[in-house]
Amino acid sequence: MKVPLLDLHAQLQYLQDDLISAVTRVVKSTRYIQGPEVSALEEEIANYCSVGYGVGVSSGTDALLISLMALGVGQGDRVITSPYSFFATMGVILRVGAVPVFADIDSKSFNIDPSKVADILNSDRGKTVKAVIPVHLYGQCADMTEIIGLAAEYDIPVIEDAAQAIGAKYPFVNNSTVIQKSAGSMGLCGCFSFFPSKNLGGIGDGGMVITEDREFAEKLILMRNHGAHPKYFHKMIGGNFRLDPIQAAALRVKLPYLNGWHKKRAENATHYNTLFAETSLLENEKIVLPFSVYDRDEESGGNHKNHHIYNQYVLRVKRRDELRDWLLTNDIGCEIYYPVPLHQQECLKDYGKFSCPQAEKAARETIALPIYPELTPSMQTHVVEKIVEFYN
Ligand SMILES: *Cc1c(COP(=O)(O)O)cnc(C)c1O
Repeated sequence: MKVPLLDLHAQLQYLQDDLISAVTRVVKSTRYIQGPEVSALEEEIANYCSVGYGVGVSSGTDALLISLMALGVGQGDRVITSPYSFFATMGVILRVGAVPVFADIDSKSFNIDPSKVADILNSDRGKTVKAVIPVHLYGQCADMTEIIGLAAEYDIPVIEDAAQAIGAKYPFVNNSTVIQKSAGSMGLCGCFSFFPSKNLGGIGDGGMVITEDREFAEKLILMRNHGAHPKYFHKMIGGNFRLDPIQAAALRVKLPYLNGWHKKRAENATHYNTLFAETSLLENEKIVLPFSVYDRDEESGGNHKNHHIYNQYVLRVKRRDELRDWLLTNDIGCEIYYPVPLHQQECLKDYGKFSCPQAEKAARETIALPIYPELTPSMQTHVVEKIVEFYN
């Protein structure tokens, strides 16, 4: 049995007609830049995340980049982020001329460890920190109560890299009340990616920044269009970071399905957990299941969970590289997110040495299994059987 890591054909079966008519609608409208599809999607995503503003941009990477540019982060500034993420998180910091400072990850959630963020802010380097970029890795929010608290104490803006986590919910604690907040809605702004493999993926590149801050949203709107206001008058330097209306139209077809897809992914994750629990792999410490942390369910009587949207279902395993080769030879898709932590990337070699032992360990031990919504129980059984066979 072949089990792909992701199968976009499975959703195309029921989306194809609507996607094609959405694209046709844009083609026939001749509104090929900005226009009503982009504004409608911005409003729909802002509502979906319960925030005031959504600003469509060309990609998740550009969502992060434009946020740093709008904050005026540049030469001589430092930005705190996670060493365990997709390259874009760090790439944008370097591109504006700033220097990344890495706060190591928590061993269970793979997300940035707030106590490490505090260490940096308390040190000498803390004085030049101009932003914090936590990443909600694999679709699970970082510990935002702690991070937002620290950032507020030092008066530093938080840019959430929510590229993998649109619609994930986090039990945010404010003055000892718990509020369910959406990924991206807790910091100054949140950045989404519509790369096709994300839970909400376009039919090409796309991204969005969401924010509650009206002034910041207005700045982003200027920035994504070369900082022009009015046309051909430039008070600031932006770029061409506009979202394509064809992407906006396609994403509007998909958005109504998103919560259903999150639910299917979470059910698949629960099913894997059950299947693995029936093997000896957990007791023998061959694998560690994904860990959902920061649940405040007990305090709140069952309403405040950290809802993981499982953009990826990631195990920590023994003999990781051999397991990956074994799965691939058996036609089971899998991937390593990510084999080299950011602080060890070659392009950083002139920036000195960094040490993030948890990120380094994660890079050696993690593996992502197929988790897409249309994955079937029999495919999951097959995946688990093959993993058992490998360790036997
Ligand atoms: C996908 C991703 C990005 C970049 O998004 P693009 O749309 O591909 O530019 C940034 N950060 C993280 C964590 C991502 O997973």
